[in-house]
Amino acid sequence: MKKVMALSLGELVLKGKNRYKFVNKLISTIKRNLRNIDHGKIYQNMGKVYVELVADNEDKMINRLKHVFGIVYIAPCYVVETNWDKIEEGVITIVDEALKKNPNYKTFKVKTNRGDKSFPLNSMEISAKIGGIVLKNFDIKVDVHQPDFYVYCDLKKDTYIYIDKFKAYGGLPSGTNGRGLLLLSGGIDSPVAGFLMAKRGVLVDCLHFHSYPFTSERAEEKVKKLAEDISTFSGELTFYSVNILDIQKEININCPEDEMTIISRRFMMRIADKIAKEGRYDCIITGENLGQVASQTIDGLKVTNDITEKLVFRPLIGMDKVNIIDIAKDIDTYETSILPFEDCCTVFLPKHPLLTPTVEGIVKSEEKLDCDKLVDEALNKMKIEKIGGSNEE
Ligand code: ATP
Ligand code: MG
Repeated sequence: MKKVMALSLGELVLKGKNRYKFVNKLISTIKRNLRNIDHGKIYQNMGKVYVELVADNEDKMINRLKHVFGIVYIAPCYVVETNWDKIEEGVITIVDEALKKNPNYKTFKVKTNRGDKSFPLNSMEISAKIGGIVLKNFDIKVDVHQPDFYVYCDLKKDTYIYIDKFKAYGGLPSGTNGRGLLLLSGGIDSPVAGFLMAKRGVLVDCLHFHSYPFTSERAEEKVKKLAEDISTFSGELTFYSVNILDIQKEININCPEDEMTIISRRFMMRIADKIAKEGRYDCIITGENLGQVASQTIDGLKVTNDITEKLVFRPLIGMDKVNIIDIAKDIDTYETSILPFEDCCTVFLPKHPLLTPTVEGIVKSEEKLDCDKLVDEALNKMKIEKIGGSNEE
């Protein structure tokens, strides 16, 4: 019997006249994510996208499809001709498989969606008839309130029968909402921030600051791993790596100790701003979160934000740490993020960072530095490489 993955599209269905553009992007992302695993035709029909299965690689395919933004549910289905003999055969096959996998299943309910309105029975009548087939062939009961499982039946030109529905992330397809430059540290927050913006269709590239040789090569490898994790969602990305040790040393010598962190942050923003302008990025993204650390008070954020006219997205701004950690675990970045490597920010960490900086005060402290020269020197030594997009496990 023919098998396909049925993909429900959530928000995309509402996109009106532009819908086809979004769906085309979605289909090209699906092709990219499935490019090195066997699959058949990819097609759309009445609001859903389908991928034909040609090998025994369902789990792998589900895993890959979960990384395609725009998909809300993934359901492995049997596809049969829309006539009762074939539907009966499909229903018996799929219920038999489900009961073998879950011997504790005792109750079920049928849900029918009749896309083909010319079919002589209405959806209630179809569900009742399918329910009858199940009752006749298996020793289980109907429970319309709290069934152990549902048998779904989508009647179109062909009929799609399925039981399992796997939740995907939803969102909008990669590349439908411009390009963003993510400030990626080795922490828990910034990969989650990158993921959340990628989920809204932004193509994310990464900018990382290090203080080599004060920070190690292994610390940089860890950040590249995080960038690779982000690329499994948004495709191959550019990874910019900038050494800011000389800048930190200059700040350390010339500026008040308690302003070290905030002035370093402003340099990060200056460098991000330049790369974003030259690389025509639409926005800058950070993992900042209100009140989490000293540099992320409202005053602190104001002073950092003052550097750039670019739109700065901080998708974690109002989230609690536990929720950020939940997402990090879900997208598999958490274990990498907690590896104990030093970060450039910890190298010159002040004992008591300033909690209420002002733009005027900080600008005054920075007068002792040749900011443009420091930024240009750091950018001259910047390394750029491509990361990920291969989807290899
Ligand atoms: P994270 O968990 O992402 O490291 P954090 O809670 O440690 O965040 P900070 O160290 O204050 O917070 O950093 C705030 C944000 O500044 C980070 O989320 C990131 O976007 C950016 N940032 C900090 N350090 C770096 C770095 N070394 N390279 C690039 N961006 C950085
Ligand atoms: Mg950090």
